[in-house]
Amino acid sequence: MMAERLWIKQPLACFDGTQHIESNGIVIEGNTIVEVLAAQQLPSRPCEKVFDARQHVVLPGLINTHHHFYQTLTRAWGPVINQPLFPWLQTLYPVWAKLTPQALRVASEVALAELLLSGCTTTSDHHYLFPVGMEEAIDIQVAAVNHLGMRATLSRGSMSLGEKSGGLPPEETVQAAETILHDSQRLIDRYHDSREGAMINIALAPCSPFSVTPEIMRESAMLAKEKGVRLHTHLAETLDEEAFCLQRFGLRTVDYLESVGWLSQRTWLAHGIHFNDEEISRLGKEGVAISHCPVSNMRLASGICRTLDLLDAGATISLGVDGSASNDASNMMYEARQALYLQRLRYGTQTITPELVLGWATRGGAKTLGRTDIGEIKVGKQADFALFTLEDIRFSGSHDPLAALLLCGADRADRVMVAGKWRVIEGEIVNIDLPALLNHHRAAAKNLINL
Ligand SMILES: [Zn+2]
Repeated sequence: MMAERLWIKQPLACFDGTQHIESNGIVIEGNTIVEVLAAQQLPSRPCEKVFDARQHVVLPGLINTHHHFYQTLTRAWGPVINQPLFPWLQTLYPVWAKLTPQALRVASEVALAELLLSGCTTTSDHHYLFPVGMEEAIDIQVAAVNHLGMRATLSRGSMSLGEKSGGLPPEETVQAAETILHDSQRLIDRYHDSREGAMINIALAPCSPFSVTPEIMRESAMLAKEKGVRLHTHLAETLDEEAFCLQRFGLRTVDYLESVGWLSQRTWLAHGIHFNDEEISRLGKEGVAISHCPVSNMRLASGICRTLDLLDAGATISLGVDGSASNDASNMMYEARQALYLQRLRYGTQTITPELVLGWATRGGAKTLGRTDIGEIKVGKQADFALFTLEDIRFSGSHDPLAALLLCGADRADRVMVAGKWRVIEGEIVNIDLPALLNHHRAAAKNLINL
């Protein structure tokens, strides 16, 4: 049986992952893009369905490359509002240590729903909290992603260096190396889908230099190589972290990364702020990817990622909203807007264009997650799209529809398609009772703080 053909007809504007294209629309069959029409061109064969996109700006589905879903339970929490990374973490760890499976489920669903409404079709999550009772955290997240109908690279995080051994996290939040590696293997075998069009990928993600041992870094790298999955961690986020690495390992962050076998194309790093020129050239040469998290970096006053220098050196840049305790939103359009403005402070107006930043949020995200089937509007790619209308007051009087998304501050998609299926219609997620979900989530958040 032939798959049904849908023509997304005559978009107001279309961005293909690199540039604005003049197009009469996109034809999809099943979950795949089969035609990207030139201006005036008609589909090669009749289409059973037509979606009139004359009011819509069409983007490839946005891709978020760094998050901690569970942190939606501790947004804007009083005691850490004005703290930088290390004390922020040390104040939050004991709260997070009380996470329950039920709370993680609603937190993940809320984070995913918020991302989806912002036009995100593929996300990663970095979950590294496995206190007693939370052994199935990633299994819970897989179910949440499937429930929303999105794609995700769920990274099996880990913490193995507790306070007693000179690390930052409290003992009740760390696990033995053996337990971590055993569960990592189980999750890859059970859930990782390496095929084109995959909805779930698994990655391995020791949390940070100050919360895991070099042993777990090394063994995770070996297991990732053996299984063909990606590696993720936080690196060079703050100067405190650099001082920690110098003091504990006698190495700067990139030397440490290299010493544990992580300087490779398989690796993507969250933040990547405090690199010197020589480190940037090494990261670029090895093809490491960086998830730039502008809002989190501004909130915690961590610093400004050297995106263009990294790109010039050969690294990949993508965008991450980061965990909701340091953002505190999970909105990819909002993140892209902040990336545009923060990076202009470093590099000026001429080089940091809306197209460049939207490219980070789409094509760059796909490359960061090691995927060749998403992130672009091209024949053969997956049918993942974010469609925005310009009817809200904030767009009134705007001229360039693509630039207007970022400059006027689009924050909610009108329609979102994942793998050929509409998941958001008229700004609402299909098949989700959002008010009920938010009621559960608010109660879970209150509970976690009061436990
Ligand atoms: Zn993070």
